[in-house]
Amino acid sequence: MKHTMIYADHASTTALSPAALEAMLPYFTQGYGNPSSLYAFGQQAKSDLEEARGAVARCLNAKPEEIYFTSGGTEADNWALRGVAELAALRGREGGHIITTAIEHHAVLHTAQYLEKRGYQVTYLPVDGEGLVDPAAVEAAIRPDTILISVMAANNEIGTIQPIARIGAIAKAHKILFHTDAVQAVGHIPVDVEAWNVDLLSLSGHKFGGPKGVGVLYMKKPLRLPPLIHGGGQEKGRRSGTENVPGAVGLSAALTQAVDNLPAESARLVALRDQLLDGLSRLPYTRVTGSRTDRLPGTASFVFEGVEGEALLLHLDARGICASSGSACSSASLDPSHVLLAIGLPHAIAHGSLRLSLGPDNTQADVDAMLKEIPAVVHYLREMSPVWDREAQKPTWIV
Ligand code: PLP
Repeated sequence: MKHTMIYADHASTTALSPAALEAMLPYFTQGYGNPSSLYAFGQQAKSDLEEARGAVARCLNAKPEEIYFTSGGTEADNWALRGVAELAALRGREGGHIITTAIEHHAVLHTAQYLEKRGYQVTYLPVDGEGLVDPAAVEAAIRPDTILISVMAANNEIGTIQPIARIGAIAKAHKILFHTDAVQAVGHIPVDVEAWNVDLLSLSGHKFGGPKGVGVLYMKKPLRLPPLIHGGGQEKGRRSGTENVPGAVGLSAALTQAVDNLPAESARLVALRDQLLDGLSRLPYTRVTGSRTDRLPGTASFVFEGVEGEALLLHLDARGICASSGSACSSASLDPSHVLLAIGLPHAIAHGSLRLSLGPDNTQADVDAMLKEIPAVVHYLREMSPVWDREAQKPTWIV
């Protein structure tokens, strides 16, 4: 079964790249020293950790001292938002204002809601029908008490890439800290913290061929957020806990490879992705979600009217295709995705969403197979659906 599997869910997670695996292996059984130990064996681990930090910095056009390893994207997002809020409070500006968007990942949205309960005010900016944030709306939302702007670089459900450099320029002009959740962007599109004018940037290893459970918060010097995690004082006292040396080394190896291969690999993925976008959007009562132009190279996303996303996934799974839907499986509720509602889709239509996210292992044969299987499953589900008019071959809500 497994050998015929088509994995089209790289936005969810990726396989460890061979380069990352090879780089990591020695640290489990040979170079396992604690970087905080004073003897040479520990100091070797420390120097390898610093080498990984330097490589990550080079991939982002950052300085090594600006790279802090975390347990992943979620921790980096939490730290960015809570850290800025606490910093403002320490400076006597308790209960400040935060600007973010309605389509952020829950790592940002739920942290923003947590801060709201503690007296901070949050503006959730709307997006247009393609999921784009208007930089002018960001500027218009700025208040004298605004302490942070947080806008994701690329959306995990619909792949829309935001105009981060333009928003960064606005934040800089107003001297407001700017964070971007770049978990879906890093390793997939060029990322440059200087060109983007970001103060804080989150990334996660397992989205680009690195291991799970390790990420980075980039923090522009001289900004120093108070720690989220307290303890032994690792990461210059800002992120305690014995360093995950294999994780950091694997993340840096995967990122270096992804960035080196980016031009060629993204061109290859765009060609495959566009076949999916063109082929599947030809189905009746089907539309592409997200932007056609400002879109992650590997992400194709759709809504099929008259189809239930969960049923679609299960039927695709039975045919060996791993994909994802924007529905809220993670929260065990039946609410459709906040992202699809934010781009203006009605509930009924947002339920029929599908995300196909391609990666290094996907081939033309995979795309051909998906272009055959997905229309068949969509047709099958519609024929069974109570909201599909079989006679007229259209959703019941279209009169
Ligand atoms: N932010 C975005 C945009 C994501 O897509 C994800 C993962 O799905 C995260 C944050 C969380 O990252 P992690 O899985 O490393 O905690």
